[in-house]
Amino acid sequence: MGIPQYIAAIRNDDLEEGLRILYDTNPLPEICGRICTHKCETVCTIGHKGDPLSIRWLKRYIADQNPSEKYKKILETEILKKNGKKVAIIGSGPAGLSAAHYLANLGYEVEIFEKLEKAGGMMRYGIPEYRLPYDQIDKDINYILSLGVKIHYNVTVGKDITLKKLGEDFDAVFAGTGLHLGRSTRIEGTDHENVYQSIELLRKITQGEEIYVPEKIVVIGGGNVAMDITRSLARLQNQKYGKVQVIATSLETEEKMPADREEVIEAREEKAIVNPGWSPQRIEIVDGKIKGLHVVQCLSLFDETGNFNPQCNMENKNFFEADMIVESIGQGMDVSYISEDIKEHLELGPRGRFRVNDYFQTSLPWLFMGGDTIQGPDVIHGIANGHKAALGIDKFLVGE
Ligand SMILES: Cc1cc2nc3c(=O)[nH]c(=O)nc-3n(C[C@H](O)[C@H](O)[C@H](O)COP(=O)(O)OP(=O)(O)OC[C@H]3O[C@@H](n4cnc5c(N)ncnc54)[C@H](O)[C@@H]3O)c2cc1C
Ligand code: SF4
Repeated sequence: MGIPQYIAAIRNDDLEEGLRILYDTNPLPEICGRICTHKCETVCTIGHKGDPLSIRWLKRYIADQNPSEKYKKILETEILKKNGKKVAIIGSGPAGLSAAHYLANLGYEVEIFEKLEKAGGMMRYGIPEYRLPYDQIDKDINYILSLGVKIHYNVTVGKDITLKKLGEDFDAVFAGTGLHLGRSTRIEGTDHENVYQSIELLRKITQGEEIYVPEKIVVIGGGNVAMDITRSLARLQNQKYGKVQVIATSLETEEKMPADREEVIEAREEKAIVNPGWSPQRIEIVDGKIKGLHVVQCLSLFDETGNFNPQCNMENKNFFEADMIVESIGQGMDVSYISEDIKEHLELGPRGRFRVNDYFQTSLPWLFMGGDTIQGPDVIHGIANGHKAALGIDKFLVGE
């Protein structure tokens, strides 16, 4: 991103210019201005001498100060005439939305096929509203829609329409379908009805659905998603019982937990207990009711060859009381929308993901893929993948 340039625009108090700079590479500035993983700040040179610049908040400042009614006027100059070509996009997460935005700007007719009721993917159905308010998601998305991008909601590719049909009806297809399948530890007891996946609970919470909230909950996982569900459940317990008893536990020790430090600190501020460094062994169930989680101390996660192979001290045991267990140990992809006859033309790359070139084009030239299913792990990578894919599609269809 043109970080020095947009900081200069703020210094010059030219926030319209700032917005134009943001949109060169990022069509979701309200969203990134709030929840971006802000790796730019990790490498910010000022950080060598003290705290880095708050690049993320500066992005938010520019977006917040420009009212949505003015966006079209400020940014419209860039839009080219329609070129008569059509691109289908599967999924309206950051990868799909970014591809849509840049393709629309290049003159393509763009139609997004989204299986859920609203657009945004995990930004709307995963990230809790206290971190990313829905009206700010809408502000970014509405601008993309104003460019003529169409979204077909409640349409599941692979069920309501096939990928093959999209390939026939459109000049190219971009798929950004994300990681929406929960993963289980598969320890004894995980088949109990009160063992949940964080991803399914977060989807219900973000949709305003009521969920089961008992007095004692254990969350297994030490990443940001685990912190999101821990904090969301802590808030619900507080509302219901006036007190919090959620314990989040992970294999990794405090220093190695993958969650951002600020998320762990804020989870504790909300009275959740974060107790890392334990390996879950078994869920205790008595008379059909969950009583808690047995754990042993985890000493290391990987062996000398770098393979995931946790080593434990079986003598150092612990027991976390709970009426409900939530597993939050990562997500998997659902590619059942790709039929076998298409799959056999797709080469596989590392970690069982489909192989793509630098422009996120698969080995089937009309099919591009990006976002969490290809790279991940965050919104800004999805945006960058969608942007690159849009350029790749243009290169493929127009040769430029
Ligand atoms: C709880 C949680 C918190 C997170 N917090 C952050 C954070 O703070 N900062 C950050 O940068 N990242 C965060 N992430 C990660 C971030 O949300 C993802 O990296 C990003 O959303 C991935 O974008 P994507 O476009 O690849 O997929 P997604 O956002 O997952 O979107 C995929 C879309 O495709 C649709 N879809 C899937 N299959 C089909 C089909 N067959 N037919 C039609 N539509 C389909 C889905 O419904 C969905 O809308 C978080 C993730 C979670 C789960
Ligand atoms: S999008 Fe994220 S990583 Fe990129 S400049 Fe903004 S805050 Fe930094």
